[in-house]
Amino acid sequence: MPRIRIPIYQPDLSGNEREYVLECLDSSWISSKGHFIQEFEAGFARFTGMPHAISVCNGTVALHLALLALGIGPGDEVIVPSLTYIASVNAIRYVGATPVFCDSLPNTWQMDPADVEQRITPRTRAIMAVHLYGGACEMSRLAALCARYGLKLVEDCAEAIGTRLNGRHVGTFGDVATFSFFGNKTITTGEGGMVVCNDSALDSMLRRLRGQGLAANREYWHDIIGYNYRMTNICAAIGFAQLERIDTILKRKTRLATSYRRAMTGTPMVFQHASPGESSSHWMITMLAPNASSRDLIRERLANAGIETRPTFPLVHHMPMYQDISLQLPIAEDISRRGMNLPSWHALGDEAVEEIATIVKAST
Ligand SMILES: *Cc1c(COP(=O)(O)O)cnc(C)c1O
Repeated sequence: MPRIRIPIYQPDLSGNEREYVLECLDSSWISSKGHFIQEFEAGFARFTGMPHAISVCNGTVALHLALLALGIGPGDEVIVPSLTYIASVNAIRYVGATPVFCDSLPNTWQMDPADVEQRITPRTRAIMAVHLYGGACEMSRLAALCARYGLKLVEDCAEAIGTRLNGRHVGTFGDVATFSFFGNKTITTGEGGMVVCNDSALDSMLRRLRGQGLAANREYWHDIIGYNYRMTNICAAIGFAQLERIDTILKRKTRLATSYRRAMTGTPMVFQHASPGESSSHWMITMLAPNASSRDLIRERLANAGIETRPTFPLVHHMPMYQDISLQLPIAEDISRRGMNLPSWHALGDEAVEEIATIVKAST
């Protein structure tokens, strides 16, 4: 394999990240206490428009805490798309609940609300809406299902920092929502995550679960089983600096998404469509090839030119831990076989987009 010249993602740490991290080191506030934690949480709450934001050490544990705080456990079913990153599904298993996989929509690639409704049983407790690749699920339809059937609504917004529906940030439509700040997410803290909610009792429960189940007003007394899922002040310092520049990052990504679409005109490649009212954050700019073998050929040619791409997610219900050979999810399967994520970091230049388009044109 030739050296990677154009990676799929690259964080931009060119703002106040260094200064804030050095402040942590100089002041010795390097662990999970320190003012950047509160500032990052408050800034993120402001950015999303949710009153409560609880920082955690990654996006996977954010999902674990969200499900625990809602009281979801053994015997409960949670409906989740099979076309997602593994963390969405693993978190359901961590609390002892059962993931029930649903199909996706052909144009937006988000979970299909009509298929979700078909899969509701007396044991269903929650729907986990995963906003894929910077797009948004159809939240009004999913929220209506939750209201009608008395279900909790969890939003996995790991891939949707900055994504809005009719002006409202995703993560504000359900009971609780989670975010990830892994190195390839729209803003990063290295490893990190956030849980947001609009209920103060849920906020206290999430904070207690994050901090070893510590009881209020009594030292070293723990009255529930909790976890150490805290974020460090160093990570929060990086996140706070990233948040200062998020609008610029999102603006440049919108421009990049437009450049890719323009450059691929005349090819058979198909890009992700927006849900009604959606303003995408374009986390991973993604397109479908006409068929699986053409997707694989294009990826191989790009790799030979030192350009990194990724396949759309393999379906979770095909993986050994969750395998269900009787389950047919034809739309999700088609997207999974034909799709590829393109280099999507915000500072990627137009020359790179042109080069990628030239290789795609020669391969289709
Ligand atoms: C990135 C991601 C997560 C969480 O990932 P971490 O690496 O644990 O921060 C969860 N769900 C989805 C859909 C993701 O893409």
